[in-house]
Amino acid sequence: MMNLGIPAGFSGVSLRKAVSALVVATAAVTAGCGGAAAQQAAKQLFGRASLPTVSAPASYGFYSKGCVAGAVAMPVDGPTWQVMRLERNRRWGHPKLISLLQKLSREAVQDGWPGLLIGDISQPRGGPMLSGHASHQIGLDADIWLTPMPNRRLSVAERANMSAVSMLKKNSLYVDPKKWSPARGKLLARAASYPEVQRIFVHPGIKKAMCDTYGASHANDYWMNKLRPYWGHYYHFHVRLFCQDGSPGCKPQQSTGSGNGCGKSLAWWFTSEPWAPKKPKSGKKPAKPHVVTLNDLPKACAAVLEAPAPADASLVTLTAGYDPEMARATAVPVPALSRMAASRLPVIPPIPAKRPN
Ligand SMILES: [Zn+2]
Repeated sequence: MMNLGIPAGFSGVSLRKAVSALVVATAAVTAGCGGAAAQQAAKQLFGRASLPTVSAPASYGFYSKGCVAGAVAMPVDGPTWQVMRLERNRRWGHPKLISLLQKLSREAVQDGWPGLLIGDISQPRGGPMLSGHASHQIGLDADIWLTPMPNRRLSVAERANMSAVSMLKKNSLYVDPKKWSPARGKLLARAASYPEVQRIFVHPGIKKAMCDTYGASHANDYWMNKLRPYWGHYYHFHVRLFCQDGSPGCKPQQSTGSGNGCGKSLAWWFTSEPWAPKKPKSGKKPAKPHVVTLNDLPKACAAVLEAPAPADASLVTLTAGYDPEMARATAVPVPALSRMAASRLPVIPPIPAKRPN
């Protein structure tokens, strides 16, 4: 997960501000300013979509700048997984990602892991989020907790409030051997083994633990290469899939190169350089952060926002009975952005301040 610079969560004040900004912006649209929707913060528009489109699955744009059509939901519970933070409505993804998560959960259990706690995937139509991530926008990214699934069903409240456990020693870049375990290493190895996986973000300390266990015997293993050290990612790991077939508008990420990534590039993370605070450029006012609007996203994303939705989330939840044709047959139009009245805005639920990075 990459932070967007909203570290303190989504406070009541900023929520009220966001909602009133939304109401003002939408009122402007309703009043007939044709292009106003394109000027709104894209995170407001995508954060408002409660259901996906029922069109063929397709990712548009890049992991950190795009959207997704035809997403399906990870069922809230499965025999080998539970989805966390349900109030965020981020359990949506490209069907290939959702089915891979289910397969990973089954195979992880066969490997001896108790089951997966699934964190954020994407919003129903992807796109930028009101809080938390820069990526996760095209339905091909998923966060998986490094906390094992308990052997009972968690309540909705527990799923909202339970904290994940950091794998690191306090004030250290290294894993705590009391928390880190070979079973977690096996889980990462399993996740990285799938050809659909482009890369997996882990904290540098976790990458180091993997290198200590597997580095020497797997010097040139491609799966080891896919484990990429990155800031954060000590409560969870982040699985990213390659662009999938049927998504010509999906922009692939650069290859991760060769080798197992246990050498020089990893050593850099244990220098002060990656952790030093950014020096402000002298004499320059810090630039105002750019608000991403619909105009910044691929053109197709405007159509994705306005495309018909299924009658109900259960029709687009990836279970054995999932039938995309049936979901399509129930499609109902969503209110066009240019006609949406302010009074019809759904309430945006606040994001709890306490959440894994
Ligand atoms: Zn993530």
